[in-house]
Amino acid sequence: MEIEKVGIVGAGTMGHGIAQVCAMAGCEVVLCDLEPAMVEAGLGKIQANLKKGVERGKVDPEHAEATLVRLSGCTEHAEVADEADLLIEAIPEKLELKKQLFQSLEQHAPDRAIYGTNTSSLSVAAIAESVKRPEQVIGMHFFNPVHIMKLLELVVHDGTDDGVTKRIQQFGERIGKDVITVRDFPGFASSRLGVCLGMEAIRMVEQGVASPEDIDKAMEVGYRHPMGPLKLTDLVGLDVRLHIGEYLARTLGNTAFEPPQLMRDMVEAGKLGKKTGEGFYSW
Ligand code: NAD
Repeated sequence: MEIEKVGIVGAGTMGHGIAQVCAMAGCEVVLCDLEPAMVEAGLGKIQANLKKGVERGKVDPEHAEATLVRLSGCTEHAEVADEADLLIEAIPEKLELKKQLFQSLEQHAPDRAIYGTNTSSLSVAAIAESVKRPEQVIGMHFFNPVHIMKLLELVVHDGTDDGVTKRIQQFGERIGKDVITVRDFPGFASSRLGVCLGMEAIRMVEQGVASPEDIDKAMEVGYRHPMGPLKLTDLVGLDVRLHIGEYLARTLGNTAFEPPQLMRDMVEAGKLGKKTGEGFYSW
């Protein structure tokens, strides 16, 4: 059975991008957020991305037009879940919030609905406990910016149904992603390595080892990373990474993931990276 209607919950950094790639692949997509302004901003960003794609000759004008027709926004869980084949959450990285959300969506979604979580690090099994059909819950970890980054890391917990995994692997390919499938283990494959590098880079800024620019250059030029760990932290959001770091330090029992004081101070001061215009860089 083809996935036709997709509901995305959370219209922030990730949600709008996930909505865009699903709509570009031909799905009918509803983008939902608690905040009406976030829904509007998310739909606006998709429009701007598509416009840029057309200007650069990467997106066909008719394709852009048809994508926008397939997209709509809402603020009600009942509306986003109605007749959804797939529901993907991209709300803040807090276990209780995600569990409550899936419970709420389940009251309005058809039995066939698959629940995808875009968590960067939380236990997919723990999120799945919240619903009546945990076998229909799978991690769908997208990367930022979603319309450009090719990786989709699927996270399969012990109870995920094999048929669900296969359908989502196929769906991932349909929306143009390179799919990897990993076991539900804290930090999965990508965040465990990436966040560790990011935390250590922040500790190096704190210790005055080098400037953010030079630390990033060490990895970009010396190790051929396309982007240094501090610039990447700015893109992801310092608040988002702080939560992930705290969680991984606790669950893996590894102090390398402990967020440095500098990071806590920056988050406290509202320097969250690109989304607030200021982080390790000015944006
Ligand atoms: P964000 O803060 O930019 O957006 C979250 C949005 O969710 C906000 O607009 C908020 O209003 C909305 N929201 C909160 N509770 C809601 C609810 N109950 N119903 C509807 N909307 C709700 O966050 P983000 O950076 O997009 O991150 C979202 C998730 O994606 C997190 O789990 C994060 O770990 C993961 N993630 C983030 C990145 C990244 O680069 N930012 C990359 C991969 C995965």
